[in-house]
Amino acid sequence: MKDLLVANEKCWPYMWKSPTIEIEDDIEAPYIILNPIEGCKPVSEGCFRCFAKKYNQVENLVFYEDLEIPYRINSPKRIYVCTHADLFQKWVSFSFIDALLEVIENTPQHRYYFLTRHVNRMEEYFKRYSEKKKIPSNVELGVSIELDKYCWRADVLRKIDHEYFYVAAEPLLGQLDTINLLNIRWLITAGEFGLNSRSSALMWFEDLRKKCIKTGTHFILKSLGNYLVSQGYKDKHLYNTYYGEVGNGYL
Ligand code: SF4
Repeated sequence: MKDLLVANEKCWPYMWKSPTIEIEDDIEAPYIILNPIEGCKPVSEGCFRCFAKKYNQVENLVFYEDLEIPYRINSPKRIYVCTHADLFQKWVSFSFIDALLEVIENTPQHRYYFLTRHVNRMEEYFKRYSEKKKIPSNVELGVSIELDKYCWRADVLRKIDHEYFYVAAEPLLGQLDTINLLNIRWLITAGEFGLNSRSSALMWFEDLRKKCIKTGTHFILKSLGNYLVSQGYKDKHLYNTYYGEVGNGYL
């Protein structure tokens, strides 16, 4: 099984660029992070090692000035929104999310990625938004799913009147038996990182890959996580069908 993990140089780049207001337009960097809010409370098992937890202990912060950043960058970027918080927690006002959506509408050169565990509130927000106008096509909406009991998050996501959906199955803590990937464009998965990471099984990743092939969902294996690496699996060899055809011979 270890030999089946084939390297692909086009693997998803995961070197985050730190978000600062001084950010320059760097045409070489394909992505940036936008963190206009900080502060989050764990909601499920996948939050256990979230590095946003350290912001829990301070306070909830909003940085309206960060919303200026996308305007200063002309070269197209993938922009990951809120890695220090979950944008759809209750304390984030809909008017703030409106301000963010306005930036997104006005910067069509960029592609924005939202990821949440609070998918009911995301659905509530976009239901209200869709009554007024169409959700911008440069937004991808995603949910985090770490255990089978949270597969319903993908079902709620699909209720939103939009066409660009993804799932982040990380840290993968169990097999996602009941996940429905219909209309999910891509899925990224990873095992847990860090000391004393919770255990995982290769078959959980393999099962997800097979489910992706069935629905035509692009499958990205970001990392097997510390546990499997400690068992001898080579983490630098990753599946990635995002840039190629699903089931394209890597498998
Ligand atoms: S909801 Fe997301 S940002 Fe918040 S603690 Fe959990 S993993 Fe971290």
